[in-house]
Amino acid sequence: MLIVEDDAAIASGLVRVLDAQGYDVRRIDRGAGAVAAAREHRAVLVLLDLGLPDVDGIEVCRRLRAELDGIGILIVSARDQELDVVAGLDAGADDYLVKPFRLSELLARVRAATRRAGPTIPAEAEVLTAGDLRVDLSARRVFRGDEEVHLRPKELELLALFVRESGRAVTRARIMRDVWDTEWMGSTKTLDTHVLALRSKIGPESITTLRGVGYRFDPT
Ligand code: CA
Repeated sequence: MLIVEDDAAIASGLVRVLDAQGYDVRRIDRGAGAVAAAREHRAVLVLLDLGLPDVDGIEVCRRLRAELDGIGILIVSARDQELDVVAGLDAGADDYLVKPFRLSELLARVRAATRRAGPTIPAEAEVLTAGDLRVDLSARRVFRGDEEVHLRPKELELLALFVRESGRAVTRARIMRDVWDTEWMGSTKTLDTHVLALRSKIGPESITTLRGVGYRFDPT
């Protein structure tokens, strides 16, 4: 899920709430990169603010709809004039939520929008395999042989990255950028915790620590 929102306080609140619900959330603060970010992260749903500093949200909505046909677009805006709502829906938005909103209302709209959008995004239908490990990105499920391994959202993304790069060194900086969408600032506590969790769930022998570099995944 991609959040396009320039207000840092609103954005971090949204990220926290949706992340806690198990959604894989990315956020950008400008409209210009929205289509590329949605494509790159294979977003099923975009939460879109209208009052952005560079491109008007209605225009961003139009571009998203033109480029990514099946994606869900939920406008989340303080603009509550009927004209804005109509313009948003005309520009291809699926739904419109006016700020301030109740949390339960937001979550209900997000659930409805992801249900509608989910199955129509072909890029999500991807299965990665390595040895007896199968990562089904469309279903967000992981199997070792016939047995399902239950991973948290970030653990699944980390594993997907490792599997894609099987047998190759993956640097910490790359992991922080790809999985956490952040530049590596020196602290890797979160990353280490997730690697520990992955090792305990998929087997300690498959992930090798490369001191001063990062990790390497080898299928077993
Ligand atoms: Ca704004």
